Amino acid sequence: MTHIFSPKSIDRLKGVHPDMVLVVEYALKRSSTDFSVNEGLRSLERQTELFKGGFSKTMASKHLKQSDGYGHAVDLYPYPVDMARVNKGDWRECIRFGMIAGAMFSAAKELGIPIRWGMDWDGDGQTLDHTFFDAPHFELVK
Ligand SMILES: [Zn+2]
Repeated sequence: MTHIFSPKSIDRLKGVHPDMVLVVEYALKRSSTDFSVNEGLRSLERQTELFKGGFSKTMASKHLKQSDGYGHAVDLYPYPVDMARVNKGDWRECIRFGMIAGAMFSAAKELGIPIRWGMDWDGDGQTLDHTFFDAPHFELVK
């Protein structure tokens, strides 16, 4: 099945590193579940706000502009998504984040662009060894 991004998603990829844009676009084409880009490049103001609210663990977020002038992270959500179900841990909806991750890792592998997922920061294939997890989050390993 082929999905295409909405103008909103395309807009949210502005300022994101071209390597990550490639992976995201490639993944969307092959993903069995549709998804959207909810956030890419983030302003310092917004990062400060998220950090203070406990939604981000670091002020060194890959969403911020990196030394190469690009943001290196994106937050991807199933589309459409039922957040009430996600917040209740309903598998039928939560699993779709894993489906997105599958598409992202397969795209990244084929393109030879290493990425990291917010459910498995150290990339060991385990998710229970992390106390902070962020299912929508993907970033470049650079
Ligand atoms: Zn993120």
